[in-house]
Amino acid sequence: MVAKSNGKKPPRKIKQIAIYGKGGIGKSTTTSNLSAALSDMGYKVMQFGCDPKADSTNTLRGGAYIPTILELLRENGRVEAHEAIHEGYNGVYCVEAGGPSPGVGCAGRGIITAVQLLKQQNVYEELGLDYVIYDVLGDVVCGGFAVPIREGIAQHVFTVSSSDFMAIYAANNLFKGIQKYSNAGGALLGGLIANSVSGGYQRSIIDDFVSRTGTQVLQYVPRSITVTQSELAGRTTIEAAPDSEQAGVYRELAKKVEAHENSASPRPLDPRELRDWASEWSDQILAIERGEVRSSGALI
Ligand code: ADP
Ligand code: MG
Repeated sequence: MVAKSNGKKPPRKIKQIAIYGKGGIGKSTTTSNLSAALSDMGYKVMQFGCDPKADSTNTLRGGAYIPTILELLRENGRVEAHEAIHEGYNGVYCVEAGGPSPGVGCAGRGIITAVQLLKQQNVYEELGLDYVIYDVLGDVVCGGFAVPIREGIAQHVFTVSSSDFMAIYAANNLFKGIQKYSNAGGALLGGLIANSVSGGYQRSIIDDFVSRTGTQVLQYVPRSITVTQSELAGRTTIEAAPDSEQAGVYRELAKKVEAHENSASPRPLDPRELRDWASEWSDQILAIERGEVRSSGALI
């Protein structure tokens, strides 16, 4: 739990970032390593878990879970923000919005409630944050999950995706959500973080998808056993294996996020275009497997 600060600090520019992507694609892993790396760079960071699973921040806290805002609200009827904020690795502030009791209510409401609560209580300013990173969800399935985008709370959105079609499908849906709110002060897209993408055609698929949708790959993050080992120890790779190559990749990502200024409205593919695009890649991969073309698409 974090002590409530009394003194007013001068306002500073807080960079607010939202990370979206299909379930299980590596959002929380990437976000936690990003938060840890940014805090190592001297920034004050809050990681705000918006997934009803409420497991966003546990590798920042030795594998321990924290009470969620919705849980506290159910128990006490009201929540003081400082009860919901817990310090993790190197002072990263951890918050979990939580969700309704399973099978009851709307999960998106948790985010609306949690974000409003911290906003009303002026927490970001009081803590003197440099970064708030929202670890959200896959598809923008309901208004609640769109909150960080829709209300313009986040300035920049990044999506985590592999080259799997369902991950790309979710990313494309997110792009539709961003495009929809982009003229009404909503958050814009900073780019895609390619997770668990090895070389060859996996990289070509991702590269092709970002170029068709008018965005960029911010960072390629390889699949790594160091991540698995660190997670099993309840820690981020930045904490558990700071000298590893993988930790270096996450530090590179943090530097790119630090330098990132200009986000844009993406150009999502419509269902027909996405279907045709996928079919083209299906043919392409078949040809690669048969040895007719190289992964770049060039005929051998
Ligand atoms: P999400 O938050 O998108 O649901 P998680 O971050 O919880 O996904 O990741 C799901 C699983 O994949 C975790 O067990 C995590 O350790 C693993 N994982 C994610 N990224 C990598 C990676 N680059 N290398 C190895 N394992 C990874
Ligand atoms: Mg997660």
